Amino acid sequence: MDRRDFAKSSLLLGIGVLTGSTQCNKQRTVNQLMNYYREPAKNLPVREFDVVIAGGGTAGVVAALAAARQGAKTILIEMKGYPGGTVVEGGTALHSFYNLWKAFPGVEKRQVVSGIPQEIIDRLLIAGGTTGHAEMLKGYDYDSICTAIDTEIYKLVTFEMLQEAGIFVCVNTLLAGAIMEGSRVRGVITESRSGREAIYAKSFVDCTAYGDLSAHAGADYTEPNDYPVVNSIGVGNVSVEKYYEYLKSHDAVNHYCEGLRSGKEGQIVRLSGISKNLPIEFTEAAGKIGMSTVTTTVHDNYFMFIKLNFKMPVSPTNRDEVAKAELELRKRQAKAIELFREYVPGCEKAFITRTSPSLNIRRGRLITCDYDVKLSDVLEGRHFDDDIMAYGFHDSAPRLQIKDGGTYGIPYKALRVAGIENLLAAGMMITSDHDAHMSTRNTVSCMGQGQAAGTAAALCAGKNCGTRELSYSHLRKTLENGGVYFES
Ligand SMILES: Cc1cc2nc3c(=O)[nH]c(=O)nc-3n(C[C@H](O)[C@H](O)[C@H](O)COP(=O)(O)OP(=O)(O)OC[C@H]3O[C@@H](n4cnc5c(N)ncnc54)[C@H](O)[C@@H]3O)c2cc1C
Repeated sequence: MDRRDFAKSSLLLGIGVLTGSTQCNKQRTVNQLMNYYREPAKNLPVREFDVVIAGGGTAGVVAALAAARQGAKTILIEMKGYPGGTVVEGGTALHSFYNLWKAFPGVEKRQVVSGIPQEIIDRLLIAGGTTGHAEMLKGYDYDSICTAIDTEIYKLVTFEMLQEAGIFVCVNTLLAGAIMEGSRVRGVITESRSGREAIYAKSFVDCTAYGDLSAHAGADYTEPNDYPVVNSIGVGNVSVEKYYEYLKSHDAVNHYCEGLRSGKEGQIVRLSGISKNLPIEFTEAAGKIGMSTVTTTVHDNYFMFIKLNFKMPVSPTNRDEVAKAELELRKRQAKAIELFREYVPGCEKAFITRTSPSLNIRRGRLITCDYDVKLSDVLEGRHFDDDIMAYGFHDSAPRLQIKDGGTYGIPYKALRVAGIENLLAAGMMITSDHDAHMSTRNTVSCMGQGQAAGTAAALCAGKNCGTRELSYSHLRKTLENGGVYFES
């Protein structure tokens, strides 16, 4: 993908569907056959802030809180009606606040992500919206801790926290363009029912998951399209205990975890099954719709997440292919309920209680930053002289695990969007290597990155400097004061 093409076409012609490499070329051919309409120039109302956080999801919520707590006048731009992003739509649990101590006997248990992410969990606990940090009793070579959340309470609690921090929260607002002054972002353009606006600021953080702001700003990126898209469902009127007995009767319990559920400790909060041990008719039918048997829950009689997967032929930045995938996933959701009703005891009257407003993916655009975290950095537990956090989970464990149940560091340079003076990226849009990304993209990592990026953006705005001029020792001290845990 030619970055200049994207920025130019999306800004000047209003075409936002050019996609990566091969696909991009096809799309360009189609566009050349089309007539163009030249949008008349118009004056937009301008608002001024210190920091713009684009995207109010997993990383963005934390980034906005961190920026505002440094005294920066902060705006959060979120296209949906609530904060939370993929953490309330796709992921089954938050991985992982702790190192993988249980898989490595003798290794000390330590909480490696704290700060604002932990504060969110504390607030959720009070509101009855999490299992807390529940220890895995089976499958702990995968993770030691499972922190499941109530998706709806998460939306409310984080919304309230944003408001308490004095952040200007714009939900139902699409970030639709970037205003550039050379290699510096001057502002962004937003669209909402209140109209089109220009938002000026000193520092910007892209937390849109797909890197929309970076792409509009002309940053380089790739689109690997190496994951299925997913729309997970919440399933109500089920018996968690009977599902467990069903898996157990087939010797198919893979992950098992007990924690706080419906206000009572010691309840099953995470389950996953080993497909090959389950009846072939069930697993074959489940396989056809890309259904995973892993679920978590915070409530009795409820599976918070059942995932339905579908592999798209092209990158999910292609609107028309996404439309087909959205329909296909909804058909798969209906089929999944049929399967649970037919095969799983205690689920005879199950029904869908929640779907995501749109499909999710583990990575869309990958934005080129000053440093690209490598798999060897993750597996060897490498720390950098500009660490902004420590992290100790890999989604492919036990196949891939961080050395000695320890942690690696995510460096500040991995958040700095290459070639742009005042733009940071946080969340699933960083890290190009597939296997390294299977660690850095996880929820708690994204949250930690958000705290660092929001803090750095605020400090840069305060000093009127670019992201590369910020003193690391200043950033580090401020992060430590914000409760961030460091190992080196
Ligand atoms: C199906 C699935 C299952 C997963 N399971 C787990 C799991 O069990 N545990 C785990 O730790 N991780 C899991 N992950 C990974 C993890 O959930 C994500 O990588 C992480 O939540 C991404 O965070 P983010 O902040 O980068 O993006 P998001 O949380 O998606 O936030 C992006 C936000 O930006 C908004 N946005 C996007 N574009 C614009 C725009 N142009 N204008 C305004 N707003 C915009 C979006 O609406 C969204 O709110 C899973 C991911 C998926 C897809």
